[in-house]
Amino acid sequence: MSKEDYEIVIGLEVHAELSTKTKIFCSCKNEFGAEPNTHICPVCMGMPGALPVLNEKVVEYAVKAGIATNCEISRNSKNDRKNYFYPDTPKAYQISQFDKPLCENGYIEIEDENGEKKKIGITRIHIEDDAAKLNHNEFGGGSLVDLNRAGVPLIETVSEPDMRNSKEVENYLRKLKSIYEYIEVSDCKMQEGSFRADINLSVRKKGAKEFGTRTEMKNMSSFRSIVRAIEYEADRQIDIIEEGGKIEQETRRWDDVSGKTFSMRDKEDAQDYRYFPDPDLMAIRLSDEYIENIKKNLPELPESRKARYINEIGLSEKDANLLTASKHLSNMFEEASNICKNHKQVANWLLSDVSRILNEKEMEAEEIPFTAEELAKMITLIEKGTISSSLGKKVIEELFENPKDPEEIIKEKGWIQISDEGAIKEVVQKILQANPQSVEDYKAGKDRALGFLVGQAMKETKGKANPQMLNKMFIEELKK
Ligand code: ADP
Ligand code: MG
Ligand code: ZN
Repeated sequence: MSKEDYEIVIGLEVHAELSTKTKIFCSCKNEFGAEPNTHICPVCMGMPGALPVLNEKVVEYAVKAGIATNCEISRNSKNDRKNYFYPDTPKAYQISQFDKPLCENGYIEIEDENGEKKKIGITRIHIEDDAAKLNHNEFGGGSLVDLNRAGVPLIETVSEPDMRNSKEVENYLRKLKSIYEYIEVSDCKMQEGSFRADINLSVRKKGAKEFGTRTEMKNMSSFRSIVRAIEYEADRQIDIIEEGGKIEQETRRWDDVSGKTFSMRDKEDAQDYRYFPDPDLMAIRLSDEYIENIKKNLPELPESRKARYINEIGLSEKDANLLTASKHLSNMFEEASNICKNHKQVANWLLSDVSRILNEKEMEAEEIPFTAEELAKMITLIEKGTISSSLGKKVIEELFENPKDPEEIIKEKGWIQISDEGAIKEVVQKILQANPQSVEDYKAGKDRALGFLVGQAMKETKGKANPQMLNKMFIEELKK
C-alpha cells in the first residue's frame, strides 16, 4: 500500500490567552512582556490558603467565543482542579473545567483544499488558568520561573477530529483566530504565544470505520511549522503501519530545525489528573438574559463584514475573503478607504503589493509597520498626479522599511512625478529622435509602437514622468 491509501485525521486543542485587564482568579495585571515576577500575588503564586475569585470578564469572553462559534452555552457550569506536578504550576494543579464546560457542540465553517465550504465541529470551549513561564538556560544552565503568566486567563477550544490535511488545519486556525480577533477576546499574537495549538493526528486506511491511534504535538504557534509538522508526522505514522508496527499514543515534540518530531513521554506516565470540582470556587450560573445580552452586543464577525464588502462596496468574493481574513487588514482597509474615499484602490494596494511583500517577508498582516493613514496618503498622492503608480510601488516598499508620511518619503527620495509640460516635451522629443523605427511603425498604423515609446520615456525618467501626459504628448508630436 502507499501513502495515497491512507487518510489523515486531525483534531485540535487551541489555547487563546484572553485580553482581560486582570488575571482569571486574582487582580494582578494581565500584561505580556513585563519585568519577570512583577505581576504576582499569593493567589497566582499558589500560596497555601490564598483564595481565588473568578474574574467575571473571563466568563463573558468565553461566552462571546462560544456564541461566535455556534456553541450551546451552558447555564450551569463549574471549575475543576486538574492535578499534576510541574515547576511551572505553583499550585500543583490547574483550575480548568472538566465535565461542565461553558460552551459545547459548536462549529465553524472553513474552506477545504478545493475551496469548498466545510464545517469543523467544536466539541467544547472551556476556561482555565495559564501556567507560569519557564526560561531555560538563560543564566548559565538553570531554569528560571516567571510567574507573570501564571493565572493569565485562557480559553481552550477543542475541535472534533474533522480535519483531513494540513491545508484544512491552516484554514481552521486562521478562521478561529480571526473570529477571536473580531470579537476582541484575544489579541491572538502567535509570536507571543497568546494563540497556540495542540495537534492531535492519526492515520487510517481509506474507508476504515475506526480512527487510528493518535499522537499529540503541543504548543505549536507558527503556521509554517504546523504545516510541516503535520506532513512529517503523517508520513512517520504511515511508514510505521506499513512496516507492520503500531502507533503509540504519546506526546511528540516538533523540532523546527531538524524538521522531525520526537517522543516526549512514554506511555508509562500516562497522566491521571484526578479531576474534582474546585471547592474554593462557586458554580457558574448564567441566566438567559445574560447570554442574550452578550449575543446582542457581539461585534461584527468576519462573515458579515465579508457580505458587506461584496454587497455594499462591490468587491469580488475572493477579494472580500482575503481582506476580512485578518481583522487588522480589514480595519486598515476601512480606515484608509474612509480617509481617501477610494475603496477600490485601497483594496488593490492591500491585496497586491502589500500582500506580496508580507509574503516575501513571511510576516502576518498584524505586523504591517505603517498606518492606514499613510497608505491613504500614498493613494491620494497618486490620484493627484504627484507620483505615478510605479513610484507608488516604491513608496510601499519604503513604508515597510522606514514607515513615515509618504509625502516626506517622496521628497527625501526625489520621487516627485514630472508633470511639467516643458520637461515632458523634452523627454518626448529625445525618445522620438532615438527611435525612428518606432515612429515609422506608429505612422504605419502599428499602435503598439506608442506603448514602447512611452515605456522608453518612463525608463529615461526613472518612472517619474506623468504617464497620462506622456501619452498625450507623444500622440500630439507623432501627428505632426
Ligand atoms: P486530551 O485532553 O486527552 O488531549 P481530548 O478528548 O480533549 O483529549 O481530545 C483531544 C483532541 O484529539 C480533540 O481535538 C479530538 O478531536 C482529537 N482526537 C481524538 N481522537 C483522535 C484521533 N484518533 N485522531 C486524531 N485526532 C483525535
Ligand atoms: Mg490533548
Ligand atoms: Zn495574582
